[in-house]
Amino acid sequence: MLGRKVMTEESDIVKKIQKNNTREKKITQALEKKDGLAWEEDGMAYMEERIYVPNNKKLREKILKEYHNPVDIGHPGQYRMLELLKRTYWWPELKEYIKKYVQGCLKCQQNKVQHQQRARELHPLEISKGPW
Ligand SMILES: [Zn+2]
Repeated sequence: MLGRKVMTEESDIVKKIQKNNTREKKITQALEKKDGLAWEEDGMAYMEERIYVPNNKKLREKILKEYHNPVDIGHPGQYRMLELLKRTYWWPELKEYIKKYVQGCLKCQQNKVQHQQRARELHPLEISKGPW
């Protein structure tokens, strides 16, 4: 079904997903509906053509890392990261996970501080013209 060549890291993740049979309520409900939006194949559950990632902290963190830390991806912000990640994977509250991950990334937080400092230099506080 996966018609494209998967990266080594990615196939490693896929193997781990296949080994994990835990399913959250949200995905089992979607599967039970049998409306074509969710299905199971090769030991994985799919949600709207995206791979469902079981609720395993390590596994999800590995994926988040893959879509944030590599040099060629280069620490995207949460919206960009969501765009990239949701092309392949899905799990409930994915957006929240990404938000927390980006907020918890030391490098991103350092960059943010630098941006804010630069922005302040560009817009110095205007001198109050009031009568007080
Ligand atoms: Zn980062």
